[in-house]
Amino acid sequence: MTSISVLKQRENQIYQKGNQPFKMECETKSLAGAVSQRACVFCGSRVVLYPIADALHLIHGPIGCASYTWDIRGAQSSGPELHRMSFSTDLSETDIIYGGEKKLKKALLELIEKYSPKAAFIYCTCIVGIIGDDVDAICRQVEDQTGIPVIAVHSEGFKGTKKDGYKAACDALFSLIERNKAPRVTLPDSINILGEFNIGGETWIIKKYYESMGVKVVSVITGDGRVEEVQQARNAALNVVQCSGSVIHLAKQMEKDYGIPYIRVSYFGIEDTSDALYQVAVFFDKNPEILKKTQDMIRKEVQAIVPRLETMKKDLEGKKAAIYVGGAFKAFSMIKALKTLGMEVVLAGSQTGTQEDYEVLRQMCNEGTVILDDSNPLELAKYSVEKDADLFIGGVKERPIAYKMGIGFCDHNHERKIPLVGFEGMVNFAKEVHGTVTSPVWDLVPRRQKPAGKEGAI
Ligand code: SF4
Repeated sequence: MTSISVLKQRENQIYQKGNQPFKMECETKSLAGAVSQRACVFCGSRVVLYPIADALHLIHGPIGCASYTWDIRGAQSSGPELHRMSFSTDLSETDIIYGGEKKLKKALLELIEKYSPKAAFIYCTCIVGIIGDDVDAICRQVEDQTGIPVIAVHSEGFKGTKKDGYKAACDALFSLIERNKAPRVTLPDSINILGEFNIGGETWIIKKYYESMGVKVVSVITGDGRVEEVQQARNAALNVVQCSGSVIHLAKQMEKDYGIPYIRVSYFGIEDTSDALYQVAVFFDKNPEILKKTQDMIRKEVQAIVPRLETMKKDLEGKKAAIYVGGAFKAFSMIKALKTLGMEVVLAGSQTGTQEDYEVLRQMCNEGTVILDDSNPLELAKYSVEKDADLFIGGVKERPIAYKMGIGFCDHNHERKIPLVGFEGMVNFAKEVHGTVTSPVWDLVPRRQKPAGKEGAI
């Protein structure tokens, strides 16, 4: 694996923990030709809004943008499933020359009549930004005509990184909340769960914890989401923000305009799940009953899972893991969870991390760990093999890299169907990791077979 070299312009986005000074170059546009693992602005907004199950999601652009994000998340719904349909205006050459506004309006009216959604989100793609369709004007006309909120999501793919798509989605969500004109009433001991997308039913697990603690969940943004519920979000006393990269703009906006404070949490792993629930309980310290119920619940949950984790830990002790995630915040929890299983992280990277995120990663990782920003398949392959990783944790785009290199893989991204949050999620995670790392198939890959005098081939 000595043949892979790193592009010169990428060198400041790769760091190996050691003696050299640390200053990660990040939050920049991807290097042309580097084949970044990042998705576009439109995709960023689509993944955030996607789980709102009773809304119409219409992609204004060529058909490819819609097919690229069709049913993009394993986000489950307890009711309607309109979110799983992928609607597109299917812009073609003629529309690019003469404009797509008429087509957009016709498509919207037709779809609203057929599916009776509670709101409609119109995603602007690259070409719409180029031809300059007035999507806001069409949305206003259709909203007046149909009476439902019709909201433009300004997510033209070329105008930034996936992170800008998160911001576009937050603007759209805030616009939806603002359409609720009823007087604000702050409900006691109540929260909004932000940045939770009900992958494999995770929202239901987290809601169950809060219900046992005596905390009221006003809305979840956007897991198992409903338009009306999202509009009630302004009545919560606290915003509890998970996956802070994607919805932090909304939390900040709600703090500024409604005075709702927010805390950042993670529900991944025993340590961070307990910390998240305790933080909420402490916030509502005027009601001591909540803290008591929280303590009892966490004790019971932890006692139930530790023996199972200990059994799997025996096989995983000392194994090495590579992590590549969207937002770096997720990587912090993963490092802790892998430590719980006795594993060491040898590569940690993210698509959208900030300077502060990478500094935290540096502090959490051992000497020699490779830390990467906005990486690409070749770098991920090179370093995970050089570091002899036994496990790669990533998403759908990293899976083939891991398998081609002969490394076990665990999907931690939004395509998966298994819940990994909370205490029961930690057991699922351990089972996934154990299953893939201990599979005998990895003994047969060329890298593990080094006949005398020959170097293992990749
Ligand atoms: S919005 Fe642009 S970058 Fe994103 S999928 Fe469509 S064409 Fe590609």
